[in-house]
Parts: sequence; C-alpha cells; structure tokens
Amino acid sequence: MKKITVAKGDGIGPEIMDAVLSILEQAGAKLDIEEVEIGEKMYMAGHSSGISPEAWKSIRSSKVFLKAPITTPQGGGYKSLNVTLRKTLGLFANIRPCKSYFPYVDTKHRKMDVVIVRENEEDLYAGIEHQQTDEVVQCLKLISRPGCEKIIRYAFEYARHYNRKKVSCFVKDNIMKQTDGLFHEVFKEVAAEYPDIETDSWIIDIAAARLADTPEMFDVIVTSNLYGDVISDIAAQISGSVGLAGSSNIGQECAMFEAIHGSAPPIAGKDIANPTGLLKAAVMMLNHIGQSKVAEKIVNAWSCTIEEGIHTADIFKEGISKVNVGTSAFADAIIKRLGQTPQELEKAVFDKKGQIILPDYKRRSAKEKVLKGVDVFVDWPGKNPEQLADSLKKLNNGIELTMITNRGVKVWPNGFEETFCTDHWRCRYEDKKGNTVPQEAIPAIFKKAISEKIDIIKSENLYEFDGIRGYSMGQGQ
Ligand code: NAD
Repeated sequence: MKKITVAKGDGIGPEIMDAVLSILEQAGAKLDIEEVEIGEKMYMAGHSSGISPEAWKSIRSSKVFLKAPITTPQGGGYKSLNVTLRKTLGLFANIRPCKSYFPYVDTKHRKMDVVIVRENEEDLYAGIEHQQTDEVVQCLKLISRPGCEKIIRYAFEYARHYNRKKVSCFVKDNIMKQTDGLFHEVFKEVAAEYPDIETDSWIIDIAAARLADTPEMFDVIVTSNLYGDVISDIAAQISGSVGLAGSSNIGQECAMFEAIHGSAPPIAGKDIANPTGLLKAAVMMLNHIGQSKVAEKIVNAWSCTIEEGIHTADIFKEGISKVNVGTSAFADAIIKRLGQTPQELEKAVFDKKGQIILPDYKRRSAKEKVLKGVDVFVDWPGKNPEQLADSLKKLNNGIELTMITNRGVKVWPNGFEETFCTDHWRCRYEDKKGNTVPQEAIPAIFKKAISEKIDIIKSENLYEFDGIRGYSMGQGQ
C-alpha cells in the first residue's frame, strides 16, 4: 500500500475524482488514500492560499498528491494554490504529455506524441519585479546552473525511462546570450552524458511554430518556465482536447499530479465532464510510485473504450463516436475493459520501475571572478544623452563613463537621434584600458551622484569569469 493524498477540489473536481478513484481501485492500485480539503472552501475559511495546515501535513508525509482542479475566487487577496504548492514543495519539473488519438478524437495532427518538460521554479516566474522610474518597470529573468541541470537531466532521464528517442531544447539564446545561453550550454553538457538519446536545439519562436504545425517532429521538449507555459498549452490544445491531458509536478521530495484543465463550473454536478485528464495524471502517479503494471492496464482499457467510440460530450463527434456517455458511465466502460488491449491505438508499455531519481547537484569549482566595471541605472527625464553624459562624467573616479544605453540600445557615444528614449538609462563605467576595477570605485560613484543630484535607481556589477565577459554589450555597441 502506498499512502497518497487526494483532494477532490471544486466544480467538476469531485465527480471526475470519484470516477478516477473507482478506476484505480478496480484496476488493482495499492493505495492508502488520505483525503484533504483544498480550494474554494479553504479560501472562504480564511486560508488565503486555499490550503489548510492539515492538508500540508498530509502532503508532506505522503509526498504524493493527486489533485482535482479547484476554483480560484476572483479578486481579493487570494493566492494561486498551484504556484504556492509548486514553490513551497520545490516542484521543479512540470511534465505534460500531449498525444493525439486519431482517428478516434478529432485532431489535425495524426501522429502527435510530445512530452513537454518545463522548468517550474525560476526564469521570469521568480516574480522579482520593480518599478524603477515613472516610465519603466522591470521583471528579473533568473536562470541558475543548478536549475538548468536539474530540469535538463530530468528530461533525459525521462526519455530513457519511457523509451523516448529524442530530447529537443527550446531557447532564445541568439538574444538572451547569458540566461538562455546558460540553459543551452548546460543542455549540451548534459546531452553528452546521454549518447543513446538524439538531441537538437531550437530557437523558441520557430520551434513553437513548428510544434503547432508539425508536432510529429518532436518527442521530448525541455525548456524554461515561460516558454514551457506557453508551448505546453499550445501542444495540449492541438493534440485534440485540453480535457485529455494530465500533468505532473515533480520535486526532489514530493510530487503532485493533476489534469491540466480547470474546475469547469458551468458543467459541474451534471455528470458530463471527461475524467480523462485526471485519469492520465493518476497514471503518471502510478508510474511514479512504481505501480506501472496497473498504469498500463488503465491506459489500455481507456484506449479500448475510446476505440469503441464510447465518448464523453467534449470529444463526441458524429461519424467517429458511437455512444455519448457521462462521467460515471465512461468510468464504468473503462472498468469493464480492464485487462483488454487496444486494436489500433498504441498499447501502453511502462517497463521501467518507479520514480526518476536524479543524482545530487554537484557544484563545480568556482571560476575566477574579476570586477571589470559597473552599470549604473539612472532615472533622468531629459531627452539628450549628450547632456546626461556631461553630468555623468563628473562621477568618473579612475573608472570612466564608457557607454549609455536606453532600453538596451546604445545612445552615447555616437547615438542616433531616431532612437526613442525613456527616463531609464543604463550608464556603464569601466577602466578604459580594461584593467580590473577596485571595489571602492563603485560606492564612490554612488556618493558623488548624491552630491551631483543624479538619481541612481540600481546598479549591476560587471564581472568576467575565467576571462569570459559575464554581461551583455549594448545593442549597437
Ligand atoms: P476550465 O478548464 O475549467 O474550462 C475551460 C473549458 O473547458 C470550459 O468550456 C469547460 O466546460 C471545458 N472543460 C474543462 N474541463 C473539462 C472536462 N474535464 N470535461 C469536459 N469539458 C471540460 O477553465 P476556466 O473556465 O478558465 O476556469 C474555471 C476555474 O478553474 C477558474 O476558477 C480557474 O481559476 C480554475 N482553474 C484551476 C486549475 C487547477 O486547479 N489546476 C487550472 C485552470 C483553471
């Protein structure tokens, strides 16, 4: 028996969870289920994140959470429960398989079978945002080497575990050479450890277009948080129905499994919702806890049901479907077919046991870090960069003003009049001969700025690591 925590959630949650639990039980899953309350009732009871202390206790003890969708109340100070769970439990990987079931479920993509492995904790979703001037706000895109290594290694281990042939990396490192550059660099390093798996790398824009157009080109895709968020919804949608996809959120300790759709309040309580998304999530859970034979049995019975045209309303199509069933009748049809294997749809084979275990992250020996200058960001409502440069040169103190950019575009020296400027200026100070800069030179700039009434809003030190520049050049520099 494996203890798991189950939450029936809101809207269609209870009915699809009941359907899924009955299938799990009849298929022979060995589960000791502890039910907890999350969602609307908890929000209303004053738990602003939608979860009670008892539910936390259960999840932290069972380490496996099967979660039905919840309704997030609109307005008010409610926090997204998913984000809270993901961040608090360190669920670094979001896995979303998107498969088409042609000809039984209507889709333009007959051969689609893609798994998106999305980094779940960092990138722009670290949520570090600031308003810095009247006109400019900023969101920090944080990418870490351990974050990249964990998610990329997970993608390769996933590929091995589930007999997948290829892992594709989606980045935008032609523009973001540091952040996406690191993700791509780590991808190449990790890929070298998996010679049995084919790899390729794509720039995210064309990759997303190809994914929407010819998804059969892709197998496992690994990408950072924001890109993964966008492309996983595209992939689920084009596979035929968002209602068919499940997902897992995996951490070093805990894991959470859920459908990708929401609580669908308009159809709640009508026994018409499709339980497939949650069932697919439960199958991922069974694989995670080492009950793969039960997982295989359920997938095969589901495929038989779909092949026989027994469909819920959301995927029912005249000419393809034969019987329009509700939630509980669909579950009964699956239970009746437990032990059967599909004729046309692929037979499920989960031949590896248990969860994917990653080795501990090993920190590499640190590179030699050398201070080369500082970018000082200034709030200045003027328009002429020459004028700003004249006052900023007064801050030279051994290191000198070498460049001013506005929204990343070089405007001084030799800027173009045509460049539109906001009130947010990046002003770079460096040793003109490229020598190492003494640490004291930086606070000295700040001190002088106060007396010169220059409004510095933040600064970023400029470092080289083992002689390699660790900061971007100005556009046009
Ligand atoms: P939704 O996914 O609930 O519904 C979108 C559409 O898909 C609706 O037409 C709905 O009827 C249909 N649909 C969804 N699941 C279905 C199923 N299993 N079978 C048949 N049809 C199905 O998205 P929404 O309407 O934007 O959100 C409703 C609520 O769900 C909101 O409160 C939202 O915050 C919440 N939500 C929760 C989660 C989660 O708990 N993980 C995820 C997304 C949205």
